Amino acid sequence: MFNPTMKCSECLTDVNQLDIKYHTADGSKIFCGPKCSLDFHQRKNNEKTNNNIKDFNNNNSNITTSTSD
Ligand SMILES: [Zn+2]
Repeated sequence: MFNPTMKCSECLTDVNQLDIKYHTADGSKIFCGPKCSLDFHQRKNNEKTNNNIKDFNNNNSNITTSTSD
């Protein structure tokens, strides 16, 4: 049976899509757990102060596309 996974945007751990509990509001990035989610959002807040809104303009809903960072 096809078992889709996504990579945690923080630590790149494979996470079964059925097990995803933490993700961004738009679902474009997922996290393996609360720590990675927290780390991401804290960094996001820091980026906001630099007026960096690139992520908001790049909402690629194709979940098979790997994030380039
Ligand atoms: Zn993680």
